[in-house]
Amino acid sequence: MEEIKQKAEYCLHCKTEPCKKGCPLENNIPDFIEEVKKENIKSAYQILSKTTVLQPICGLICPHMSQCQGNCVRRFKGLPTSIGEMEAYVGKKALEEKIPFEEEPIEKKGKKIAVIGGGPAGLTCSAFLARKGYAVTIYEKHKELRRNFSTWNSCLSS
Ligand code: SF4
Repeated sequence: MEEIKQKAEYCLHCKTEPCKKGCPLENNIPDFIEEVKKENIKSAYQILSKTTVLQPICGLICPHMSQCQGNCVRRFKGLPTSIGEMEAYVGKKALEEKIPFEEEPIEKKGKKIAVIGGGPAGLTCSAFLARKGYAVTIYEKHKELRRNFSTWNSCLSS
């Protein structure tokens, strides 16, 4: 935690949020990093969870230098803030500690939705629909969803 906290303290919490603008999901990067500074991983995770459900994976495999970190103001005089590393840390901790993505209970809609494909897009779509109270069924050609994630799993366990 100490090492990650030091990386968070390198962030300037820029009001103009250039890192957020560089993120395709518009993750609230300055605010989640502020929570990491305070060692509040639950809050950091819940801030990220408003726009993403794949923190541990995106934190590792996103092309950060052409997205968030490539827009970080810190890069002008040195290295950019380690946004991806912090996102992966927060996501992994949340999985280990079973942190809920939000506090409010989900209101059931009583409707079913089918999602075709259990890749990143299908899983993200399904998660956000489920959060809105829909009963989601994912149709995937492989027997197990994890078959799609063999590469990602090896990233996560390294
Ligand atoms: S641009 Fe860099 S320093 Fe500024 S808030 Fe984003 S991560 Fe922090």
